[in-house]
Amino acid sequence: MKTFKTWLYCLITVCLAASCRPGKPATDNVNEQKTVTVSIEPLRYLTEQIAGPTIKVNTLVPKGSSPETYEPTPSQMEQLGKSMIFFSIGDLGFERTWLNRLQQAAPQTAFIRTSEGILPLDNQHHAEDGHQADPHVWTSPENMKIIARNICMALCQADTANSTLFRTGLQQTLTAIEQIADSIRHLTDSIHQRAFLIYHPALTYFAREYRLEQVAIETDGKEPSPAQLARLIDECRKRQIRIILVQQEFDRKNAEMIAKEIHATIHTINPLAYDWDAEMLNIAQILHRQ
Ligand SMILES: [Zn+2]
Repeated sequence: MKTFKTWLYCLITVCLAASCRPGKPATDNVNEQKTVTVSIEPLRYLTEQIAGPTIKVNTLVPKGSSPETYEPTPSQMEQLGKSMIFFSIGDLGFERTWLNRLQQAAPQTAFIRTSEGILPLDNQHHAEDGHQADPHVWTSPENMKIIARNICMALCQADTANSTLFRTGLQQTLTAIEQIADSIRHLTDSIHQRAFLIYHPALTYFAREYRLEQVAIETDGKEPSPAQLARLIDECRKRQIRIILVQQEFDRKNAEMIAKEIHATIHTINPLAYDWDAEMLNIAQILHRQ
């Protein structure tokens, strides 16, 4: 943690020094809103909760696109270069693929890995990549608190004039997250059947936090083979799984086939939604019905 802080401090010092251009009229920046870029919408939600209207937040991955494979556009790269900070999750597919190019496009921007300090779980959906952390850290309220603290720390260092405002925003955000966590606990505690089926395994951290068991349709990031599908249907029957969750970015064909076989209902969820709190509650409410 200490080395991270030192690194962050160095990075921000370099960034601030680099952005101080002599000869530029001082009035130029007075009313200019500071910009931050984030990789996915839940990070925009969190940053806006903490910073309020002080900071303008751009999101790289647009609605309906997959953060595993997204490719930023040239205009997004340009916007990133004008951002004070880039908040990434750290292990999303597109972040890993694009990190070098993003850093080259934005040499003055501080790159912050917001999942720093989260106890990682093994990635279940990209076995071919070897041992990598499951990237979907934001689906757990406890993780979300760590992410919020990381965001606040970076904002305070990059924009010291507003640090009191950010710290107040952080306290309010942490309280709100705790309330969501309580509501989810209340809903999930009484679930009799602890296992649920999901197309893309985005709820690994959610399942860990609420003692639920996530069973994925997708295998190693791919559609299951007919043999894998047959085994999955058997497992679902044995465990009396009645709920299938699908994400809007993925194909429903397999889920529909399984649903018919095991008499389960399909529910669409969107873990990438901006309204993180509402979506987390929505997921808990769906599972509560099982
Ligand atoms: Zn994913």
